[in-house]
Amino acid sequence: MTPSAPQAPLQHPFRFPVAARYAGMESSPLKDIFALAALDGVISFAGGIPDPELFALEDVTAAYDWVLTHQGHRALQYGVSEGEAELREQAARRLSRDLPTDASQIRVTSGSQEGLFVVAQALLEPGDVVLVESPTYLAAVQAFSVHGARIIGVDTDDDGVIPEALEEALRTHHPRMVYLIPTFQNPTGRTMPVARRQAVAEVLQRTDVPLIEDDPYGALSFSGHTWAPIAALPGMGARTILLNSMSKLMSPGVRIGWMRAEGPVLDTLAVAKAAISMQSSVVDQLTVARYLATADLDAHVARVSAVYRERRDAMAAAIAPVLPDGAHVTHPEGGMFLWAALGEGFDAQAMLADAVAAGVAYLPGWSFFADHADRSTMRLSFVTHSPAVIGTAIGRLGEVIAAHPRR
Ligand code: PMP
Repeated sequence: MTPSAPQAPLQHPFRFPVAARYAGMESSPLKDIFALAALDGVISFAGGIPDPELFALEDVTAAYDWVLTHQGHRALQYGVSEGEAELREQAARRLSRDLPTDASQIRVTSGSQEGLFVVAQALLEPGDVVLVESPTYLAAVQAFSVHGARIIGVDTDDDGVIPEALEEALRTHHPRMVYLIPTFQNPTGRTMPVARRQAVAEVLQRTDVPLIEDDPYGALSFSGHTWAPIAALPGMGARTILLNSMSKLMSPGVRIGWMRAEGPVLDTLAVAKAAISMQSSVVDQLTVARYLATADLDAHVARVSAVYRERRDAMAAAIAPVLPDGAHVTHPEGGMFLWAALGEGFDAQAMLADAVAAGVAYLPGWSFFADHADRSTMRLSFVTHSPAVIGTAIGRLGEVIAAHPRR
């Protein structure tokens, strides 16, 4: 493996004073890990990167062509902060399979990441508490934290957040909101069963705390079974902001997602979105709308999911024999991630340099915890490589684990 020659650091004549909320964040630990993982010869399971070979390039090209040919003047112009009507119609149509939704309840965002930022801008005061699953999606924690929120992790088990733990945390911390990823979660791949969703909804209704429900992976089901969002449970529609994204279904590069909400908060979300970015790219919105209207996204997602399922199977089969006694690994029914906890006495961060030297990379799990990190954990994305490559790389990982005995 040949790391590219390190570049001499640039000498800056002036150092900008930066906001306290970003101080010390010049280089996130993840950026460094992604750089390592990109080295020649390293098979990386670190990023949640869809396999580009699976993109529906012809259909997307046809949609861009059509939009630029037939709606070119509009597509290249400013639009409205709420989002283009055609896309909001398509979003509402998809959501209405589980949850009756009108286009007026949709706010388009530049991916769910912007949706999380818009939500944080619109709803959070400095010092507010946000309850999250432990572990949870790192960049959501960041979007909330930079708005001054205090993030508190709630205990989870194989079925997701534990309702009793959630209730206790709600009583103790009086949070402004709860953030959950109920289906094929990032980073664990876990899914909340229906009964658990009902229990969580019941607690949230009793305590009157709103839910931010993030669902970028729900359609990527390996069994074909899909889970309705918590927002679709009785009484939850008005208490939930539900975020969807086209990133994992169609393309992360187009940067299109949306949120669904009800009532006056929709106006606040539109104002926050306008303050941040005016509106999402009109040409991309119209193209996604055209794609959804003319291509068969469900068939595409079914094809992608079938490939991902084979890769999940390959990783699950390869990893089981190389994990130490007492380790725990999730068995995702969809999505992109598998999560392994090696157990007490292991440190996945400390093992990473040797893993990269051996030609395999993963994300150490500690960074996904808001507090009380389990340092023995790692997140492995199974979607980017073929089953054969996965087998080779997990073999290397096994050797690294064996060389780092429990301490
Ligand atoms: N939420 C979750 C849980 C995610 O895993 C991701 C992407 N990794 C996002 C939101 C943001 O994705 P995007 O902005 O591409 O829609």
